[in-house]
Amino acid sequence: MPKVKKIFQAPKGMHDILPDRQPYWEKFRKAVRETAESFGFQRIDTPILEETDLFLRGTGATTDIVTKQMYNLKAKSGHCLSLRPEGTPGVVRAYLEQGMMSWPQPVKLYYFGPMFRYEQPQAGRYRQFYQIGFESLGDQRAVMDAQIIQVCLNLLKNLGLGKIIIQLNSIGCKICRPTFRRSLMDYYRYRKNRICFDCRHRLRENPLRLLDCKDEKCQQTKAQAPIAVDYLCDECRQHFKNVLEFMDELGVSYFLNNNIVRGLDYYTKTVFEFFLEEGGEKISLSSALGGGGRYDDLVEQLGGKATPAVGAALGADRIVGLICQEDLKSFSFAPKVFLVQLGEMAKRKGLRLFEELTEAGIKSAEALSRDSITAQLKIANRLGVQFTLILGQQEALEGTVAIRDMQSGVQETVRQSEIINELKKRFKK
Ligand code: AMP
Repeated sequence: MPKVKKIFQAPKGMHDILPDRQPYWEKFRKAVRETAESFGFQRIDTPILEETDLFLRGTGATTDIVTKQMYNLKAKSGHCLSLRPEGTPGVVRAYLEQGMMSWPQPVKLYYFGPMFRYEQPQAGRYRQFYQIGFESLGDQRAVMDAQIIQVCLNLLKNLGLGKIIIQLNSIGCKICRPTFRRSLMDYYRYRKNRICFDCRHRLRENPLRLLDCKDEKCQQTKAQAPIAVDYLCDECRQHFKNVLEFMDELGVSYFLNNNIVRGLDYYTKTVFEFFLEEGGEKISLSSALGGGGRYDDLVEQLGGKATPAVGAALGADRIVGLICQEDLKSFSFAPKVFLVQLGEMAKRKGLRLFEELTEAGIKSAEALSRDSITAQLKIANRLGVQFTLILGQQEALEGTVAIRDMQSGVQETVRQSEIINELKKRFKK
């Protein structure tokens, strides 16, 4: 037999990251690290392989990701393992296994690593791709949902990616969602012949997914389908209202989109996705840069005690692809200012102030979930910022803020409306 030289190729949908692309990835990783740390998220790395059962019970046994897209293997011991298709179940497993329930809550973690899904490869869709994720476990307050959105937005903004649009929805909780689910099923059952083949399957297995079907045939039926926010219980409605208030407070552009349901089973209450607005045009739905939401039942589902949580994941390949396209050159993420916020009202006002600082191009950091001034100042010191802004209840009421020079320790009170100019003046000196 003649010897045929075989030229190996990377598996379909998987690719090499060549040296010329490495600087972009490196800058991106640096931006992730600095943004995450400035919001008080700590890095976690979990194994790429986990027990298959973790995803069946976590991501959901009827989801596309688990039924169609997982790479499964059997270890010599006979154990069924899977290459992780997403990061959250591994983080929750680690939270439980490592006893993080007894750490001060919320536990705020971030990860960055490869995920694997057996999908049909196309531009921006691979079988091995990288995700950055932010998870906050142990805090049910709407401010945490807002902070998860804010950290993602900040990262995208820091990378100079242009205008980001957030699409938001609430899909309720285990109390109110069943009623919505039933109405949706009743509605679709009578219109079975007007929907695509996949949707007939979704109607049986995963009815909420009917709402994010992209097939032309289903659009008209979908447009008149019941919507989740009409079925929210009082608690979910109040929570959603609070999240929206925080969004307004932050001056974030968002759209309410009843069709955002997310592909995974564990979401409760708030769900959202990030899109890049392309040249001021209508947002292309294929350009989702990431998404996330609340998952208040997942920790319990995986064997822990009931623990509220919220998180998001961003697609690194798409983001780095955009950075390369734009060839954005200069990144500088080290924060110069730290914002200390004491009390509920100060936290609320602080969100807006933080956003104004970012808008003005002043790299800032905060620790929204830390309550004591000592803990917050410790972080400010570690970050080596030049100035700390202190916003307590009194300052929040009076519309002022205390500015402390971290080197000299001198502190002065300034009106909030003047703080940007004051900082700029001091930076010039
Ligand atoms: P998901 O976990 O499906 O919500 O995905 C979050 C983000 O990860 C998406 O918005 C994409 O940016 C990215 N992503 C998901 N699947 C892929 C894939 N197959 N290839 C590349 N990026 C992906």
